[in-house]
Amino acid sequence: MSRYIVVIGGGPAGIEAARAAAAAGGHVTLVSDEPVGGRAGWHSLLPSKVWLTAADTFGLLTEAPSLGIAVDGTIRADPSAIVDRIRAVKEAWAGQQVADLKALGVELVAGVGSFEAADRVAVADGDGDVLTRLQADAVIVAAGSVPRFPPEMKPDGQRILAPRFASHLASLPPDIVVVGGGATGSEFTYLFNRLGVKVTWIVAEQGVLPKFAPSAGPFLAEALVRRGVRLVQGQMAARIEREPDGVTLITTDGARYSASTAFVAIGRLPDLSRLNLGAAGLRPGPGGGLQPDSFGRTAVPTIYAVGDASGMPMLANRATAQAWIAGRHAAGATTSPFRPETVIHAIYTEPQVAQVGVLDANGAAVEIVRLPFTSSLKAHLLPEGDGFLELAYNVSDRRVMGSVAVGPHAADVLTPVALAIQMELSLDDLARMYAAHPTLSELAFMVARLA
Ligand SMILES: Cc1cc2nc3c(=O)[nH]c(=O)nc-3n(C[C@H](O)[C@H](O)[C@H](O)COP(=O)(O)OP(=O)(O)OC[C@H]3O[C@@H](n4cnc5c(N)ncnc54)[C@H](O)[C@@H]3O)c2cc1C
Repeated sequence: MSRYIVVIGGGPAGIEAARAAAAAGGHVTLVSDEPVGGRAGWHSLLPSKVWLTAADTFGLLTEAPSLGIAVDGTIRADPSAIVDRIRAVKEAWAGQQVADLKALGVELVAGVGSFEAADRVAVADGDGDVLTRLQADAVIVAAGSVPRFPPEMKPDGQRILAPRFASHLASLPPDIVVVGGGATGSEFTYLFNRLGVKVTWIVAEQGVLPKFAPSAGPFLAEALVRRGVRLVQGQMAARIEREPDGVTLITTDGARYSASTAFVAIGRLPDLSRLNLGAAGLRPGPGGGLQPDSFGRTAVPTIYAVGDASGMPMLANRATAQAWIAGRHAAGATTSPFRPETVIHAIYTEPQVAQVGVLDANGAAVEIVRLPFTSSLKAHLLPEGDGFLELAYNVSDRRVMGSVAVGPHAADVLTPVALAIQMELSLDDLARMYAAHPTLSELAFMVARLA
């Protein structure tokens, strides 16, 4: 018999969970307070990627003479055209996702979902008036995450910006102080610098991309410093003061950094605030997320949590991988468990940074082999081909354990490694494969042969 499944949240996690559950025969209702697409589609991931595509293109044009192409006249960013493009891509992407969901028979309900019991969800409008109540065999929480800002650094959309304002940035400031050395801080530092904004980048003591292998962040930081970014590393941002003609950022050692604008990207928290979790017998775990098991089940087994609502790491590809499994499981279909070690963490700067699996040497059990990107012909053909790839493998059975790559298209370069981890392949399996030549895909197989 078809199970009745309610999904709360219309971002990448909710969409994928609804698709998977419906495709597996579930009767699915998707409740979302925002149009389908979620924060990723309307406010964070998608707008940032349109800006990054513009920045990459700007970079290519700047490097064109090194490829034998003369570019006459000035190259400049046209922010209002970029903002128009963001709107167009958002609408096209959301429209496509709505069509997919409808084709699978998913019912879409607009409003805020909250638990009245573990198997009952009330949907309310913005004023809190209940519009409808939904009885469910299973509920999948995909409520996403919200940015966290200390009161001394609250964005105002004018002088103090955050990713959410990127959709409306119809002109670029002459200079900017970016706070945060994580994924979002790195991407915006890169794109502002590429598009001609003078950037001061405030990064804490742990450095750039502290969650990546130690070789990755410094490589990216050096590339950005070479392009003119002023990197201030070692002090935390304490507060931002508004001045008549700009802002001053003050770090914990009292140093002051002035610019016309600031951009703050210092982390996100799961958004469980409107779910009335207590009525379902649930409460957030220590990191603020719902900490599900490998099928997405929370402490109440008919309630699942996927995507940013489940905690770190907050990535759309991890969200959708979890959601596919939870959606199928909730609908009663067989499915294999989620494998977090196959999730590629990627930063879409130039050079890109990507990592998958385990890279710790872990005593002598894991060995790491390193290859420069220039080992492939393709890296020589590209305008900015520098980079490296490290591959970790288990010494005793030679199984592939993980990899980090920094260089052009690093996120794509790691896809075969992620597949190797998923399939529990050995170095020798990878080494036998030859990708098309010349491509950057060759790198993952070359590094295995080197090992
Ligand atoms: C600037 C930026 C860039 C990023 N770029 C990338 C990237 O390039 N690649 C990548 O993999 N990841 C990226 N991420 C991370 C990625 O956006 C998130 O991991 C992803 O959005 C998680 O999807 P989600 O569905 O869990 O949540 P969300 O996208 O946050 O969607 C959740 C939705 O649920 C709604 N909701 C919440 N509570 C309720 C409720 N009670 N009732 C009804 N609706 C509710 C929310 O309003 C929202 O619309 C980026 C993040 C940021 C901030």
